[in-house]
Amino acid sequence: MKDKQSDVVVIGAGPAGATAAMLLAKEGFSVLLLDRAVFPRSVPCTGWLTAKSLPLLEELGIRRTTLKKRALSDITFHKADFSQTAKPQFEEAPGYLIDRSQFDHMLVTTAEKLGVEVIQGVAVQDAKPLESHVTIQLDNGTTREARLLVIAAGRDTPLLQRIGIGIAGTDSLRWSAMVESTSAKTSARQSPKMDIVLGLDQGPSFGLCSLSAECVAVSVSWVGERQEAGRALIQLCRQAHEHKIVPVDLTAAAAAAPIFRLLAAASLDMDTHVGKHTLVIGEAGGFVSAASNEGIYASMWSAQIAAEVLVKALRSVQSQDELMAFDSAWRVQMADYLRSPHTDVQFLLPLIFSNQPMADRMGAAFFLGENI
Ligand SMILES: Cc1cc2nc3c(=O)[nH]c(=O)nc-3n(C[C@H](O)[C@H](O)[C@H](O)COP(=O)(O)OP(=O)(O)OC[C@H]3O[C@@H](n4cnc5c(N)ncnc54)[C@H](O)[C@@H]3O)c2cc1C
Repeated sequence: MKDKQSDVVVIGAGPAGATAAMLLAKEGFSVLLLDRAVFPRSVPCTGWLTAKSLPLLEELGIRRTTLKKRALSDITFHKADFSQTAKPQFEEAPGYLIDRSQFDHMLVTTAEKLGVEVIQGVAVQDAKPLESHVTIQLDNGTTREARLLVIAAGRDTPLLQRIGIGIAGTDSLRWSAMVESTSAKTSARQSPKMDIVLGLDQGPSFGLCSLSAECVAVSVSWVGERQEAGRALIQLCRQAHEHKIVPVDLTAAAAAAPIFRLLAAASLDMDTHVGKHTLVIGEAGGFVSAASNEGIYASMWSAQIAAEVLVKALRSVQSQDELMAFDSAWRVQMADYLRSPHTDVQFLLPLIFSNQPMADRMGAAFFLGENI
């Protein structure tokens, strides 16, 4: 029996894959969206979502009122020794503190409503680009075919090597570790709040403490050795509790926290995101902000640019030529945002705590990806 063929197969139904699938379905193409997890699934994530994502979310049919009560405007920068603070000012809330598991689930259910065929709980074992199409082998023993393939399978996916696309070197390597509690006592009226501890290593490493009605989370983004990230998380949990930034001591849980490899802005160092009949988007392609490790918006944005390229490719007889346009398209639109704040934060640290305009500019760089 011939395998069922779709116009596009998207591997990974996180923010990148779900966005690409929805935008293609809205253009009338048949899309298969596959994920090895069953949604709602849990993801290590602080839940920061920039307001810059609103126009795209609205295009996908997700209204800003859904996010309103999660608006984040209480933001404080701290010096690493907690001796000084600064509060960046924004004209309006720069973003939201979302429940990531619910958010991703909402994207997948919206994709289904738009006509995307979603298969959950099945992993892709192999992807083979052939001359005229792509075949996908699933771990339930079945195969599927598509004209084009989108890899949106998140960090460290082995699928890139299979199709001959290399991930960048380790120049942009960072470690991220996080611990959270949904049982800690916070008020039901607790409005979202975030405390950022800058210069944890006297340099670019930072810590994040977030508080909402449902969750307390502490995380570090560490540039250096892997095991130091774990130690930094433990210390930050203790200090955040001592300084009453979070209402619970998460030190014990921090000792067992998993440590993730993050390739911040690694997309900028990759030669290409285009393979035979294939595009790579989201964190799989290193689309993560260097300033803040923000990957939800970067992933969705890379998906939006990819969808425009894919639509042209699907309507063309020279589809591979059209796909090649992705490499320059995302660079033109996203490079500045990904490499922000364009300067070594270490030299700015003293100014951020003594000069309000500098605190505001750091806020805009960290939360909105603007150049400092
Ligand atoms: C501790 C931590 C905190 C973070 N906090 C934030 C934050 O507050 N805000 C922010 O914007 N970003 C944050 N990030 C980064 C952000 O979570 C990621 O960049 C984002 O999830 C990338 O989205 P994606 O769609 O590319 O990949 P993912 O969300 O990782 O989705 C990939 C999907 O692919 C599926 N998959 C993988 N392999 C296969 C396979 N072989 N077959 C089928 N399915 C497969 C997975 O199950 C997964 O659902 C954080 C990261 C870490 C580590």
